[in-house]
Amino acid sequence: MACSLLDALASGQVIIGDGAMGTELQKAGLEPGGCGDEWNLVHPDRVLAIQKAYVAAGSQCLITNTFGSNRFVLSRYGLENQVAEINRAGARLAREAIGNRGWVLGDVGPCGGFLEPLGEVTEDELRASLCEQISALLEGGADAIILETMTAIEEVQFGVQVARDLGAPCIIASLAYDKMKDGSYKTMMGIAPADAARTAIAAGAHVMGANCGTGLAPGEFAGIAREYRTVSTAPIMLQPNAGQPELVGDRVVYPLSTDLIAAALVELTTEAQIVGACCGSSPAHTAAFAQRLRS
Ligand SMILES: [Zn+2]
Repeated sequence: MACSLLDALASGQVIIGDGAMGTELQKAGLEPGGCGDEWNLVHPDRVLAIQKAYVAAGSQCLITNTFGSNRFVLSRYGLENQVAEINRAGARLAREAIGNRGWVLGDVGPCGGFLEPLGEVTEDELRASLCEQISALLEGGADAIILETMTAIEEVQFGVQVARDLGAPCIIASLAYDKMKDGSYKTMMGIAPADAARTAIAAGAHVMGANCGTGLAPGEFAGIAREYRTVSTAPIMLQPNAGQPELVGDRVVYPLSTDLIAAALVELTTEAQIVGACCGSSPAHTAAFAQRLRS
């Protein structure tokens, strides 16, 4: 990429993100309970096809297929010795899909456990896991590291610090909020947006993000962005789900139409510089969003 992501953000341009990966992998044949991240090694063609579809739809940055590619999650599949390979392959596949037309965001999801004393994960283990994953994503050529769907502030803090120490050119800290009964937003672990931004920015994050979440219509991400701005001037990235999932029979359905989602995403570009979508979205949503934005 000729221009770094930070330079592009500094220029003020709006950048179109991508959409869900997990549901697209399922459409491509991933069995329920299967390890989608392993497909970077065993079905790279299918991962590449999904990412190419997002690029064709208008995505200017691709999130790597490495959401659960950390030692803790991969050990559930007996793949804990392939952390580096899976992450490097994930970054290379995204690069192959987007070339120099956009940016590769190396994806780091939650470790899947709780830190001591709440759980059994020690700070040293978590830092070592983050280091192993993030260094492999950077080796694979990621232009940025995105910590996403985070709910624990320590995990955000350690992840940002590790990415910074490893020399990541751009670090995005994206948390998943739920809407509280009083109308405020907090993560599952009780973290409010302003507190998240204070901690993440102090640790070295360049961009604050919000994605996924529970009980949040796409438009409500504007409220989270405004809370970030009370404590930080950092650029913002928003990736709402494609509406609230409903169970119809044994299928999870996202009831909002593609057009409604696209319109909501366009609205969010007044609040955020990088706008994409999370669960339930597909290249069709990205295409509709890009078309409205550019028209
Ligand atoms: Zn999601």
